[in-house]
Formats: sequence, structure tokens, C-alpha cells
Amino acid sequence: MTSPPREPRGAGEDVLDVGPAPDVPHPVLGWRTWRLGRRAQRRTDLIAPLAGLPWPSRQAMVAFCASPTHAPPGDRCGCGLYAVADPGRLDWGPSDHEVLGVVALWGQVVEGTRGWRASHGYPRFVVTGPAIAEEQRAALARRYGVPVHRSEVPPRVLAAQLGADRARADALRRGSDAEVATALAAGMPEWRRRWSAGQAAAETACRPRRRGWRRR
Ligand SMILES: [Zn+2]
Repeated sequence: MTSPPREPRGAGEDVLDVGPAPDVPHPVLGWRTWRLGRRAQRRTDLIAPLAGLPWPSRQAMVAFCASPTHAPPGDRCGCGLYAVADPGRLDWGPSDHEVLGVVALWGQVVEGTRGWRASHGYPRFVVTGPAIAEEQRAALARRYGVPVHRSEVPPRVLAAQLGADRARADALRRGSDAEVATALAAGMPEWRRRWSAGQAAAETACRPRRRGWRRR
């Protein structure tokens, strides 16, 4: 059970095929983050932010646990590959090289209050922000064989906005590649507008008070 679950792709799509059809018809689909490597040879690595481990391309990521008493995901352990149902509840680090994505989980899967932990996983799609160059995004898509979309707002901003719009977030999480591409393109102007408005409000709020200053 190591083949990433993939749906058949149509001809002419700008992504490469990952491999044989999965033997798991219904993987759990959840939101998660990865970090992209900064060094030249790591720039197409999807790295687990907490563990610091790169996810392999074209084959399943298999969870590891140092405990000899169980295989991941352990019932009373934190091991396993994580994903959440609500993208608004993702944890973000300080790096502008963090990306948002939906991951397919399968094998052994346990459900918690925020989402899931699983023994096997593979990215379904990735969303990079303005900090990631087009060339790097394309290389990432080629390497992992999954769609890598560009967001005009930082991924953490997008995740927060999707968290406030769960119907749309769930449609994206469960959508086909074509549906995801269409929904992201359709929503982007609105997300960008809201982000700009939020930034303008923050700047207004942070403007130093003029009182006490006198013009000469
Ligand atoms: Zn464990």
C-alpha cells in the first residue's frame, strides 16, 4: 500500500503522472503545511515543518515512530502524518517559504479533534505564495507530479480566509484537480482584496499619533 492515491488524469494537463492507480479508493483528504527548502539542492523539497524531514517524491511518505511498541499512528503517541479539516486551524511558523496544501492520507488513519494522523500520505495539491518564484513552483510540480498553484496572498493568509469559509474550503479539499484550479482562480480576487483591506486597516491602526506635534 505504498502507491499514492491518484485519480486518472486527462491528456494535456501540465503535470506528470505519479504512477499506478491507488489500491485505496477513498483516502482521507486534509489540509496541512510544508516548508520549501532554501538551499539550491533543496528548493523542490516539501519538508515537514516540525520533523524537518523531506517528503519523498513519486512515492508515499511513510510515518516513522521511534517507539518499538507500535507502528504509527499510535493511539497514545503523537506520531503519524498530520492533516486538519479546517485550514484556519493550521499552525504556521515564521518562514515565508511555508506552503499550504491538501494531502491524501491512507493506510492506518486515526481521527482527532482537529483532523487526522496517518501511516501513509502524499500531497494532492500545493499552494505557494508570492514569495515563491514561478520557476521553483514549476519545478516542484514536475518533481512531485501534483498541481502546484500560485496564491497572490501568503499561504497563511489564504488558510485563514478559507477557515472562515468552510464550505469553500471543503470544496477545495475534496475537489478534482480541475475543480481546485477553477475555484482558486475564482476566489483569488476576493482573497486579495480582503488581504489588501486588512493590511490598509493595520497600517491605519499603527500610524503614529500626530497629537503633540506642531508644524514649524
Ligand atoms: Zn508513536
